[in-house]
Amino acid sequence: MIKSFRNFASIRVLSGALLLALAGSAFAEEDHSSHDSAPAEESHAGGAPHWSYEGEDGPSHWGELPEGEVGAAAFPACALGDAQSPIDLGGANAIGLIVPETHYVAGPLVLKPNGHTIEVTAPPGSDITIGGVVYDLLQVHFHTPSEHAIDGEHAQMEVHFVHQNKATGQLAVLGVLVKPGAANQQLENILHEQSGDDYDHRIGKMTFDPNALLPADLKVYRYDGSLTTPPCSEGVNWNVAATPIEAGQDEIWVFQSKMGVNDRPVQALNARPLVKPD
Ligand SMILES: [Zn+2]
Repeated sequence: MIKSFRNFASIRVLSGALLLALAGSAFAEEDHSSHDSAPAEESHAGGAPHWSYEGEDGPSHWGELPEGEVGAAAFPACALGDAQSPIDLGGANAIGLIVPETHYVAGPLVLKPNGHTIEVTAPPGSDITIGGVVYDLLQVHFHTPSEHAIDGEHAQMEVHFVHQNKATGQLAVLGVLVKPGAANQQLENILHEQSGDDYDHRIGKMTFDPNALLPADLKVYRYDGSLTTPPCSEGVNWNVAATPIEAGQDEIWVFQSKMGVNDRPVQALNARPLVKPD
């Protein structure tokens, strides 16, 4: 199922290429930062290896990539961890009603260069409360297709809202699946800013409102997982909204044409509790 979707996804890349021509510049230079990680974790030591989503430095090899030319594995958790993300949410083994409370505020739209995704820096003052714990919103980024699946089915895109608790440093990620439907002006603005095409003089002057990328109903699947990119660190409080948002099919295609296929395959649930909404 995943494999066939990947084929489907590459067909989408071809369709998206036409849109890319319209949308402007190529994707930003690769850097080696981990887009799901907190700022403290973002810059690895000088020897951190390059990684990607296919081939010899693709997801099935992340755990083996050496630190430097002959060093020990740089990202051992990617191979050895038993609480990794993403997962197939269809494997839920518990039922409960968990509704994170978001307190997101709008601010200037600021993109951060990242070779693996399109990343938006969060406006200051945004946070989420999950189980009574408050986490500050750090950044929002995108995956095409979705990383989380439900019974083997991937959505065409997934938005990740990455948060961190100030006191403990713990990360909490809110995932929102995206399906084709009505156009989303906020996504349009992000693509426009990313393209760097200043034909209407709005570059650097647009607003980012994280609320525009949330479904009205925020009940979630919840489990303990990891960063979905190297170093695959565990201890991440994962929450994936059961209700998707909509985006224009063209918008999704342009995101994919800019980012490429950037989903890590689903990982084993193992002995973890996975709570499904009531
Ligand atoms: Zn992510």
